[in-house]
Amino acid sequence: MSQPAVKQTERMEKIVSLCKRRGFIFQSSEIYGGINGFWDYGPIGAELKRNVKELWWKSMTRLRDDIVGLDASIIMHPTVWRASGHLDTFADPMVDCLLTKKRFRADQIEPQSGVAYFYTGAKDEASGKEIKETFSVLLAAGKPPESARKVAVQFYAQRGLQNVALLGEQAEKIENTIRYSPESGALLTEPRMFNLMFKSHAGPVESEENAVFLRPETAQAIFVQFKNVLETSRQKVPFGIAQIGKAFRNEINPRNYTFRSREFEQMELEFFIKPDEVVQKQTGSLAALPESGIPGEPQPNWGWEMWHKYWVEQRMSWYESIGLSRDTLEQYWQKKEELAHYARATVDILYKFPFGTQELEGIAARGDYDLSQHQKFSGKTQEFFDQDASAKYVPHVIEPSAGVDRLLLALICNAYDEETVTDEKGNSEVRTVMRFHPRVAPIKVGVFPLLRNKPALVEKALAVRDLLRPHMNVFYDDGGAIGRRYRRQDEVGTPFGVTVDFDTIGENGPELEGTVTLRHRDSMKQERVKIADLPGILLPQIQ
Ligand code: ATP
Repeated sequence: MSQPAVKQTERMEKIVSLCKRRGFIFQSSEIYGGINGFWDYGPIGAELKRNVKELWWKSMTRLRDDIVGLDASIIMHPTVWRASGHLDTFADPMVDCLLTKKRFRADQIEPQSGVAYFYTGAKDEASGKEIKETFSVLLAAGKPPESARKVAVQFYAQRGLQNVALLGEQAEKIENTIRYSPESGALLTEPRMFNLMFKSHAGPVESEENAVFLRPETAQAIFVQFKNVLETSRQKVPFGIAQIGKAFRNEINPRNYTFRSREFEQMELEFFIKPDEVVQKQTGSLAALPESGIPGEPQPNWGWEMWHKYWVEQRMSWYESIGLSRDTLEQYWQKKEELAHYARATVDILYKFPFGTQELEGIAARGDYDLSQHQKFSGKTQEFFDQDASAKYVPHVIEPSAGVDRLLLALICNAYDEETVTDEKGNSEVRTVMRFHPRVAPIKVGVFPLLRNKPALVEKALAVRDLLRPHMNVFYDDGGAIGRRYRRQDEVGTPFGVTVDFDTIGENGPELEGTVTLRHRDSMKQERVKIADLPGILLPQIQ
């Protein structure tokens, strides 16, 4: 059942606070007051991020024969962005509040209903000066007109009037308008398009000829290197090129913590396929979609629709494999009228964040649009000669495009849990625990000597640390009561804790010598295991 909005806001506040307190995420340049839309990952966050990227890379490239990697530069030839359409169309509609100057994305304003108060202008009662600029304010139904007048008076005062007398007030009921600021109620400007690409100059001269852009997506580098990769990797269509890297968008309204940032990372795959006509000619007929809609293993007679569904399913399974169960995700199949002009189908995979169900990844069937555009603008052929099909064509593409930072936020929100636990003395306390899947957990195991002032315990604990360290991220902690040390690891989501105690060093008899307690984060259950067995127990769970 979904929780009420207040509870969700409170939950989000607790998550943000934990992220700062435990070193997951910091505001960029915090000591200077921060910078809107930019974030840094602290020691724990950096590990989490690295794990997520490595898992994606491994599942995409190392575990498959048909995908290879790329690591391209962030700044590319500016014509790339002309060809891709970003220079002309990568823009959002922007509106400003006429009173507060606050900027909004026009397409993100929720429709509002109420009573709009219109003014034809205002007059300064003392000087007689008159302003003829019209203005209006939207009030929720039932609010007194005085509230609208107050806003209007401020508006005209900003334009130089002192004793403001409002002119020509008229009230009208309005439904579902997006013309007013959701915060002040004041009228917004008309929408203007704002290009989201960050612009800079390559070289010492700040001229238009030297203008360059920070890439707003990693995908275009894959398209422009398509031929080089094809020729050097011995791949044949169908095959894919995967890339992880930074992208930059000068978002009008960065918000929801790291969800919409101005600098972020993407994990993108371009999977090149044969045009349907070629498949049909080569294999006789295109495979029909299975009844469940979930294709199995790739087949030579797959058309784009099958490949598209296949990738949606692959991506859903991958999210599941890192701890986002299917009931926390949703698929949104874009409607025909919502699709970009070149897209045949787009599915967004959404996660149920505390602030709403929002996009993690988009999986688009883009036809041959991108390679054809680059062929046109560069004058270099992007065709593939397919010997098996005896055909030459510009490949089509399926693009699963995911955001690293959004995924991290989803994993953090998903992991956050609070539970009341009672200790042996009967005292209850709230335990905050990050229930990360062991695969993504920033630290895999905490190693603790029961007491820090007993050299034999410390020596053994350090040996356990050194045994595990080559295989996983280990945190050694000898400070404070053991319960407190467990709690600290619970808060960063460490799935396992190993404690070296007097049994380990044989003080309670030879039968327990060389054993440790292995504590499980989620159940808090403890078991006695041999030190030598630890790698064999832990490794399968974290890989
Ligand atoms: P949105 O509609 O939320 O702006 P988009 O549809 O423009 O996103 P794409 O261009 O499809 O996003 O980018 C692919 C992925 O990159 C998104 O699914 C998201 O995970 C990530 N992404 C895009 N913009 C941002 C951003 N400003 N901050 C963080 N991640 C982003």
